[in-house]
Amino acid sequence: MGFAERLISLLERTSVVATYKYAVVIALMDLCMEATGKDAIPRSHVTTRQVAEKVIELYWPQTRTYPASNAPRVLRQNTGKQARILSDILAFRSTLPDQSMSLHRARLEAPVAYQRLVHRVEWTLILMPLPRVQKVRGGEEPILYHIQWDTDIERKKRDVTAYQRGEESPFDNRILLKPGVPEYLVRLNLLLRPLIFRNWAALVARVNRDLIEEATLEEFLFGKSRVSLGPVAPLLRDIQNGACFYCGKTFGRRLEVDHFIPWSRYPDNGIENLVAAHARCNRKKRDFLADTEHLARWTARNTPGSPGARALLSAARETRWESHAEQTFGVARSIYLNLLPGVKLWRLGDIFVPADRATLRRVLAET
Ligand SMILES: [Zn+2]
Repeated sequence: MGFAERLISLLERTSVVATYKYAVVIALMDLCMEATGKDAIPRSHVTTRQVAEKVIELYWPQTRTYPASNAPRVLRQNTGKQARILSDILAFRSTLPDQSMSLHRARLEAPVAYQRLVHRVEWTLILMPLPRVQKVRGGEEPILYHIQWDTDIERKKRDVTAYQRGEESPFDNRILLKPGVPEYLVRLNLLLRPLIFRNWAALVARVNRDLIEEATLEEFLFGKSRVSLGPVAPLLRDIQNGACFYCGKTFGRRLEVDHFIPWSRYPDNGIENLVAAHARCNRKKRDFLADTEHLARWTARNTPGSPGARALLSAARETRWESHAEQTFGVARSIYLNLLPGVKLWRLGDIFVPADRATLRRVLAET
């Protein structure tokens, strides 16, 4: 808890004024979750390139036009002119045949332009937020990470360009997380993520105060409604033999697609994280974690090479949906292997059961 307090306080006092500071921390958190191994330990360093790709993912839905009734526009994320990363993403988006497509589709559609975007965003991160996030008035509070460069990197842009071209370069792209930080970020995810999203939304509301009601803003920026899950629903139904993933009874006419790992814990639209369920079962599950029986079935279905996983892969190809089994398993491990004592898991309807750590470890050892 001490770490959470220090981090939130740092984010309020850092010299970075744009929302970059929030994006960087969420990106570090997501990367640590995805890289959680069977020993429940996440990785100890990430690269500037990985952070750049995560930051693009985070800002992608935020570069849509905000549907304000008076003057719809893309929201500013900075007190001055629009933050550079947002402008770069907007420029990339404007070259796409369909501006509302998902980022996954955009990467497939325009791979070369996407690579250029990643390089630009990576450079902006190297230049600005990464050396500055931990700087506050009167000094430095290096509680998160250590990097091998400082704000004077601007004079060495040539080194970074060489590194980005894959040439030999003295530039070291690693962001070395301080001891304990990966574990803190993973364990405190449930607490930190909504807190950071709240502060991020409040900052965006402040710099766009001419057109925003704060209440609807958080949903626009971080809500799960931004990608329609409709296209995969019939495929998931077939993979599940026409039965609800949770109660096992057959579907009538209606079914819904549920995020097995709840969106509020980690935003994952990958096909491995999706299951078809009755509307009623979905409503009862809400943002709870499913219990070990569900987890065991879900793990078995997603294990590479299994019939379920093969069917999911071909469904993903057919719908050009994103698929990343190992990343999704990493996130599942980061959550289930770090549950606090006494946590209950959702089984069905209003039934909850205590989390059994030994069973969880056994089930996730199969991943
Ligand atoms: Zn059901």
